[in-house]
Amino acid sequence: MDKQNDQSRMDRIVSLAKRRGFIFQSSEIYGGLNGFWDYGPLGVSLKRNLKECWWHDMVAGHDELATSPGAPEPHEMTGLDCTIIMHPQVWKCSGHFDLFHDWMIDCRESKRRYRYDHLHGRWASHRGKKVFVVTDQSGDEALPHTLTRAQKFFGVRANKLAEIEWEGDLLPLAGNVTLAEALGPDAGEPGTLTEPREFNLMFETRIGALAGDDDDRAFLRPETAQGIFVNFKNVLDTSRVRVPFGIAQIGKSFRNEITPRNFTFRSREFEQMEIEFFCKPADSAAWYRYWRDRRWRWYLDLGLTEGRLQLREHAKDELSHYSVGTADIEYAFPFLAPGEFGELEGIAHRGDFDLRSHMEGKLVRKDGELVVETGDDGKPRHRGSGKDLSYFDDISRERYIPHVIEPSAGADRAVLAFLCDAYHEDEVPDEDGKPRSRTVLKLHPRLAPIKAAILPLVKKDGMPEVAIDLYRKLKPHMACQYDEKGSVGRRYARQDEAGTPWCLTIDGQTLADKTVTLRDRDSLVQSRLPIEECVEILRDKLR
Ligand code: ATP
Repeated sequence: MDKQNDQSRMDRIVSLAKRRGFIFQSSEIYGGLNGFWDYGPLGVSLKRNLKECWWHDMVAGHDELATSPGAPEPHEMTGLDCTIIMHPQVWKCSGHFDLFHDWMIDCRESKRRYRYDHLHGRWASHRGKKVFVVTDQSGDEALPHTLTRAQKFFGVRANKLAEIEWEGDLLPLAGNVTLAEALGPDAGEPGTLTEPREFNLMFETRIGALAGDDDDRAFLRPETAQGIFVNFKNVLDTSRVRVPFGIAQIGKSFRNEITPRNFTFRSREFEQMEIEFFCKPADSAAWYRYWRDRRWRWYLDLGLTEGRLQLREHAKDELSHYSVGTADIEYAFPFLAPGEFGELEGIAHRGDFDLRSHMEGKLVRKDGELVVETGDDGKPRHRGSGKDLSYFDDISRERYIPHVIEPSAGADRAVLAFLCDAYHEDEVPDEDGKPRSRTVLKLHPRLAPIKAAILPLVKKDGMPEVAIDLYRKLKPHMACQYDEKGSVGRRYARQDEAGTPWCLTIDGQTLADKTVTLRDRDSLVQSRLPIEECVEILRDKLR
């Protein structure tokens, strides 16, 4: 098996993340809470750096006077920070209230709950008994799981496994068998799985002390995008932006996922980095291609291995009812089977669906057209705001509803991908020249939580004083750490695990000629630099 796609590698990454304070389970001392994660001292810096890179590269550092490579023309970028709880009507018009659900299935016996579309199985028979053995495992784990389930169900000894006859390959449970014939993933007998039920993924809450009736029901946002659409007019009226322009937002989103899994990949509380880009309908296909390619490059420029990334255009039948085109940027996470990829970001051409929904009311597609959905009484099922969200181009004198391109990324999934990609195990010579195995995070310097470590070789001869002085000179410019504890080899190892790209060592020679050793994390090359030039050289490297 490809060593990279190895569950044990994932286990080691998770263990490093815990051991070095990148990611902890939420409320761990109370046994944890499934689907919720906390970022520790190193993790919070990594995630902040990632979000700052995104904000800088997409918004703050964007040159609105130039045409970006691949773009049809210059464009502007601006930002927003909206609330997590919004008017409930937002979710009714966006479609989330009616449509944002997964199918779930319960097991009456084990009391476990599964996502219907995650269940697969295969037919097994033994001495005239036949059952459809269901698993909730994916990838490499699925087949062995059905085997152990069947062994237990038929009561077959380990050395008689060949007696079990298997029919066909793994099939989705949905649409292939009746539930009476299905042996649930944690059940002792077939027929314990309930009929699938819809489950809305939005977390509900109530507003105010007198909350009681249905009108007080509010929701934690399942995406940040809607805050941007409902503020479209505010942004237009208060800043001098002109179409084409984008509004960016980073913030928490919440989804009551039925089966959170794969570390932080599928969480119930997570952070998104979303852009809604508004453009002229006639230019929208060109802008879609621009954003798709630009976002793809962003992950590569920050160091993800190209061979583990995939850009996947959705097939027509996979598109949401409003979408004209969607591409996913996906990463080959080590917890997935070889050949499988997990979504990091979706780039969707959403047409005028969102702005129209918030003007007119919830839309549905009828005979190829988007029309307001009506109830039995002929009135809109969910009434829109009635506000005019069209755009008037005062140069061409045209009025239109802009089309939207949406690059929607998950900050937690990106952190996880960068952690997995950066994780390496190799060998380095120790102080005596003997090979020593090391774990190193080869994070891009922009992402690294600590950019440089300043290490006095020994805790005497004036070395700590010189090192502390250098630390204080560097600190205003970048995150750095002073460390004098333990052998220098141990200190290098600690920094390698934290992903620190550079170590500066103050040694005997420093005191003689005012130079220090710069050790590069990845190449392991050690070079000498004048202590006076360290700040400038490291700032240059970071740029
Ligand atoms: P999936 O199919 O994996 O559930 P999605 O297609 O529903 O994802 P979007 O609604 O397109 O995801 O959300 C945009 C981005 O938000 C995703 O690409 C992902 O990075 C992030 N995201 C979505 N759901 C989760 C989650 N439960 N945990 C962590 N990140 C998430």
